[in-house]
Amino acid sequence: MGLRSLYAEPDTTAKTVQWGALECHDVFKIFRSGPVETVALRGLDLRVEAGELVAVLGPSGCGKSTLLSLAAGLDEPSAGEVRVWGRSLGRLEEAELSAYRARDLAIVFQSENLWPALSAQENVTVSLRLAGRENAAHAARDALASFGLGQRGAHRASALSGGEQQRVAIAAAAARRARLVLADEPTGELDQGNERIVLEALQKLRGEYGSTVVIVTHSEQVAAAAERVIELRDGKVVT
Ligand code: ADP
Repeated sequence: MGLRSLYAEPDTTAKTVQWGALECHDVFKIFRSGPVETVALRGLDLRVEAGELVAVLGPSGCGKSTLLSLAAGLDEPSAGEVRVWGRSLGRLEEAELSAYRARDLAIVFQSENLWPALSAQENVTVSLRLAGRENAAHAARDALASFGLGQRGAHRASALSGGEQQRVAIAAAAARRARLVLADEPTGELDQGNERIVLEALQKLRGEYGSTVVIVTHSEQVAAAAERVIELRDGKVVT
């Protein structure tokens, strides 16, 4: 499949080093519904370096999910620019955006990341096929084993525990070698023990697979484990 990655292999030239994995420049997002305007982001500036694991914190309604949907290219800013590895998402053709989401990006939601009627193995395999990867079934098996799910591959996703389901989603990101992983409250429905296991899986994505990981969270445990905390309030970064 001819899907081109947006990601440029890192090298040491000044040209590539100057770009972060994810950058927001003076981003505004205004939702309009009739006469009602809601300003979700107001002049957001941030930069996440390639290979970082950052936590995004802030009270409900401060714009965290809006930030993730703009970074995923699922919505467009009202003003300002969102860049991934230096490429402005607003300037991409629809096909390039699709390729970005299929190849470079993985999103881990709080739950319901998987097709419930498919096995864990099939879930990871489908994700790899969408990205146009060869030997998908083999790579899926390897990734599941790497995340301690080698014995769970044949089980239906709906039969797995919440923590296991989250780890299958993370294994799928690893199998695809997703360069940017956006996680929206990935441990929000888990007890502390499972939260730690899922957090370790996200850390492994960064450490062993080289992904850049951005985690929106309310969890103190996750925030404490992040390399950096970005705090949002009222649609912008608290400085
Ligand atoms: P958080 O994830 O930090 O809780 P959100 O990004 O979901 O915050 O929302 C920020 C603000 O934007 C909130 O006031 C929310 O009600 C509003 N908002 C988010 N999405 C929409 C939408 N599709 N339409 C209208 N308002 C929205």
